[in-house]
Amino acid sequence: MKERSIKRKITLWYTMILALILSIVLVGMLVFIHNLETNVAKEELSQNLSAFYGQITFAEDAYYIPDDMEFYNNGVVISVYSERGVPLVGSIPSHFPMDTTLKDDTFQRVQGDGTRWLVYDRAYDYGEGKTLWIRGVSTISGVELVAGQIMIATVCLFMGLTAFIGCIGYIMLSKALKPVEIICSEAGEISRGEDLSKRLTIPQIQDEMYRLSISFNEMFDRLEESFEAEKQFSSDVSHELRTPLSVIRSQCEYLIGECRTSDEREEIEIIKNQADRMTNLISQLLTISRCERGSEHFHMEEFDFSFMAEMVVDTLAETAQRNEISIQREIEEGLLVYGEETLLMRMLMNLIENAIFYGKKGGYIKVKIRRKGNYLEGSVEDNGIGISEENLSKIWKRFYREDKSRKNSTNGTGLGLSMVKWIVQIHEGTIDVESQKDKGSTFTFFLPVKSDQMDC
Ligand code: ADP
Repeated sequence: MKERSIKRKITLWYTMILALILSIVLVGMLVFIHNLETNVAKEELSQNLSAFYGQITFAEDAYYIPDDMEFYNNGVVISVYSERGVPLVGSIPSHFPMDTTLKDDTFQRVQGDGTRWLVYDRAYDYGEGKTLWIRGVSTISGVELVAGQIMIATVCLFMGLTAFIGCIGYIMLSKALKPVEIICSEAGEISRGEDLSKRLTIPQIQDEMYRLSISFNEMFDRLEESFEAEKQFSSDVSHELRTPLSVIRSQCEYLIGECRTSDEREEIEIIKNQADRMTNLISQLLTISRCERGSEHFHMEEFDFSFMAEMVVDTLAETAQRNEISIQREIEEGLLVYGEETLLMRMLMNLIENAIFYGKKGGYIKVKIRRKGNYLEGSVEDNGIGISEENLSKIWKRFYREDKSRKNSTNGTGLGLSMVKWIVQIHEGTIDVESQKDKGSTFTFFLPVKSDQMDC
């Protein structure tokens, strides 16, 4: 999904609305200025024409125009035409189109050779049905030039104003939304770090952000409480179940010894197997709950990982042999790691046990431990049943089992790999898997080596 910030969205919206309002104002202003200028020009024309007409003397069948009549006044050029439109006296601006029709009491816009004129004609009757035309012409290019200049200036002003208000608004919004950004990043840190004991910083000013932070913190309090209660519950239940289970197991062992028939023994062995499975499950649940409680509950110390790995391989070699699988090892000596040995041993055992149980008869397992830079690189490779690509990401989830019928009922819990991941993560390491169905799997993990073994 495209990432968008509220700041940008609000700024974009109000800048667009502002630009729209300013454009409407601008168009309105221009129409108004244009009309005003044109009206002034029209007024000027008609007044000049009336003044000119006032100086003409009409007799029965004739008219008389004084010799000293001015045909140019205040930018208006006046000319007189006969009834048939023949120019009689007056002046006509150069390039003015002579074929412009005479229209009584009408304003016309005329264009000729790059100049635009406003033309106003009046027809005056005299004598018996005779008409004298008076035409006034004024240039309107000047009017339009002024309007154009005003328009350019106004457009520039409005654009500058829009940009300025946009920037100011963005800065003000950034300031106003800063606390939201802080809340987002702190809440993100809490959820990413999975540390529910952290809280949001409460702003000084008691505004909406203050109330929001308080509400968030209250929510985190409740979440932490319910998480803790859940962890405590599973840990308590696991502890409580351990004792009755060990009683069931020891009673089963006693009864197996007492059985007279093989049928009876088999029946009791089924009960014992299920009790073993539950013991295994509980031990894994307890380890996970310890991991979830955090590193303060671990007994961290420096230990020889290489030595521990040799021991684990030795311990499981017999189980592998029983399953007709050979274990090969390439373990670099003396690699020290800082961590909890029992947990890391559990992690390696789980990986090798899985390689055995999901391996093929006559197959192999390769356990490699070596140093890579400031890390210890470990891998457990098998040529067993492998994992299908679509399930690869699911194997780390609790209680996930790809093929529930595969591992025998005593061992499979679906908790092993989620625990492995937890253990690696709390030791600040990483783990990954490569696998191909029916070809085999390789689990590779990295753990930081002890600091004085690190390359500077
Ligand atoms: P389980 O108790 O079922 O082994 P895990 O959490 O250890 O639980 O493993 C989860 C699932 O991942 C297993 O059920 C199995 O399907 C798959 N898996 C784990 N290791 C291997 C392996 N080496 N080869 C093939 N599949 C494996």
